[in-house]
Amino acid sequence: MKTPNAPATDNEIIPRMPSTDTMGRPMSDLRISVTDRCNFRCTYCMPFDEYTWMDRHEVLSFEEIERLARVFVGLGTSHIRLTGGEPLVRSNLDQLIGRLSRLAPNFDLSLTTNGALLAEQAGSLYDAGLRRINVSLDTLKPGRFKEITKRGNLDEVLAGIRQAKKVGMSPVKINAVIIRGINEDEILDLVTFARTNALEMRFIEYMDVGNANAWSLDKTVTKKEILEIVQARFPLREIGRAEGSAPAVDYEFIDGGGEIGIIGSVTEPFCSSCTRVRLTADGKLVTCLFAETGVDLKAILRGGISDEELQEKIAAIWTGRADRYSDLRWESLSSSAGYRPRDHKKIEMITLGG
Ligand code: SAM
Ligand code: SF4
Ligand code: SF4
Repeated sequence: MKTPNAPATDNEIIPRMPSTDTMGRPMSDLRISVTDRCNFRCTYCMPFDEYTWMDRHEVLSFEEIERLARVFVGLGTSHIRLTGGEPLVRSNLDQLIGRLSRLAPNFDLSLTTNGALLAEQAGSLYDAGLRRINVSLDTLKPGRFKEITKRGNLDEVLAGIRQAKKVGMSPVKINAVIIRGINEDEILDLVTFARTNALEMRFIEYMDVGNANAWSLDKTVTKKEILEIVQARFPLREIGRAEGSAPAVDYEFIDGGGEIGIIGSVTEPFCSSCTRVRLTADGKLVTCLFAETGVDLKAILRGGISDEELQEKIAAIWTGRADRYSDLRWESLSSSAGYRPRDHKKIEMITLGG
């Protein structure tokens, strides 16, 4: 029998009636940031050289992440995405993939990476159980790639994408943030690149994540604009959102050339179907990408608590969730009141994970 304060678990998933939040949204997707560190300095995400990095002792261990993931799966979470910062800078990430991929049958595990270290790690990640991967790639021009990422090398990322395909990952999706005046002239080149290499292209509207980027609405190339540019060259048919709750609206090429997705986070917000919960690398539970704070699960975990009690706490947080930041932002942007990103002190994207 478990004692109430037993931090150890018997590695079993404890199924519990899934909770929904105040808007009826289930907690089906968990995004885990495995580190706040990154080998790039993308202008739209973390443009500064130095941040106040998390103390390494504050970062969740693989054991702690696995335990929390198991608790979430018991609460009805069916998708886990690893992210960061850059997840591949966390040492021995394949070991965490191995632990998570064995959590439950029919359970979906994926990872988002900038691809710089992917060529060397794709094989071990695949062997550990990773099948689905998203690689961020905003440009196919080496000079522009350097300007956007500051520290990145395009050839290394392209090699990483090739290696992910070679080892058998499927699908390999490409994420591109489109910013006016920076890379909107490459939308068709990116689509052609994806079609030629059997990759799935995902375009993302530029957002005011964190507090470090210099976002303004005029820099966001809208979902509608992106769609029109692609449609004019490659006719598309709308498929809709995967499982009704994915951020991207998917489209298929009428000529059979595959699919693309467009994430209209700013101009076509999808809060009403948002099933995503986030865990920061230092163990804070955050219920919205634009949240100002989170709940310190690590402190609760390290203080000694049973899995059942942990489930109760997480379920209570989720049940009280009322987040709809992007809906409200769009209402403000569309009204005379306007919207000032700096009025909102958000957690940085590198801490939260995208
Ligand atoms: N480092 C990894 C990467 O770049 O793929 C994972 C973390 S990154 C924060 C996750 C995703 O967020 C990336 O696809 C990135 O392009 C996206 N992202 C970062 N800043 C963004 C912004 N201001 N607007 C829209 N997407 C953004
Ligand atoms: Fe790093 Fe990803 Fe942010 Fe770029 S988008 S700075 S690669 S965390
Ligand atoms: Fe979900 Fe928050 Fe984004 Fe809305 S703003 S879709 S609630 S993460």
